Amino acid sequence: MPYVFGPVPSRRLGLSLGIDLIPPKTCTFDCIYCQVGRTTSKTLKTAPFVPVSEVIEEIRKKLVKSESDVITLAGSGEPTLNCEIDQVIAAIKKMTEKRVVLLTNGSLFWREEVRKRALNADVIMPTLTSAFENTFRKIHRPHSGLELGMVVEGLKTLRQEYKGQLLLEVVLLAGINDTGKEVEGLKTLIGQISPDKIQLNTVVRPPADSKAMPLDRRRLEDIRIFFGDKAEIVVGDPVTGKGKNKDSLAGSLLDMIRRRPLKPVDISNTLALSMEEVEDLVKGLLIKGYIRKQEHSGEIYYVSNQQSEVSGKP
Ligand code: SF4
Repeated sequence: MPYVFGPVPSRRLGLSLGIDLIPPKTCTFDCIYCQVGRTTSKTLKTAPFVPVSEVIEEIRKKLVKSESDVITLAGSGEPTLNCEIDQVIAAIKKMTEKRVVLLTNGSLFWREEVRKRALNADVIMPTLTSAFENTFRKIHRPHSGLELGMVVEGLKTLRQEYKGQLLLEVVLLAGINDTGKEVEGLKTLIGQISPDKIQLNTVVRPPADSKAMPLDRRRLEDIRIFFGDKAEIVVGDPVTGKGKNKDSLAGSLLDMIRRRPLKPVDISNTLALSMEEVEDLVKGLLIKGYIRKQEHSGEIYYVSNQQSEVSGKP
């Protein structure tokens, strides 16, 4: 089973070589905005899940062949559920000076052992969506053993212990957590957590639940101003791709699309192809039934008909 994928274009990280340490849709949450579908194994139980030595060997091989800006621990579920993630981070840091990024839903940092395993990542990117328990439950449909208070305490303790960059992602959904009360509550809570940056995001790819609707740019901009200097909008930032792996373009493309739905422009950037060449390439995959077209917020995405995704985050 491949544990390393990409590089794939990431709106926040540039070209990201992804490491998937979790079986598909094994997560502490079942977010309505998840772009990889419903959670099939909702758990708080950590486990090795994958053979670390094989993962490390695959990273070593892939690093030689591919260009990327960062190495991202993401996965088709919650990566901090992997109890050997610290070993993977340590091994990557011996191989390369590229930054190691942990993309997490942030739900398990109330556990000391989970915080300790993450401390050597260069960047940790957890998510927070609300200061209110009922909204938190509505958006994340968390495991019954999780409460918002635990998650917030975990993030505050992580901030005290962690010396790297803490970039807090706030996923905003129209009509759910974009009201004045919600946004004020978030601002107060985020002030207590004190991340290095606040990254405002919304749904930009087809979500698990059609109730998850995006905010328009103007509302996002209002909230960014309200949150202050640390806040930035990360929706729709252009990604610069680099040409690579021309011999197996279709395979690379399938590999990317299996992990997250992509717009034609993302494919064009990553594979250094013109839009006409992208069209040609996807035509074959559509005919063979490997991928399908899906519209979301007026944009066309290519979505895999096979399940294996990099990150549920929008
Ligand atoms: S968005 Fe992330 S945290 Fe939420 S269900 Fe999907 S994989 Fe889990």
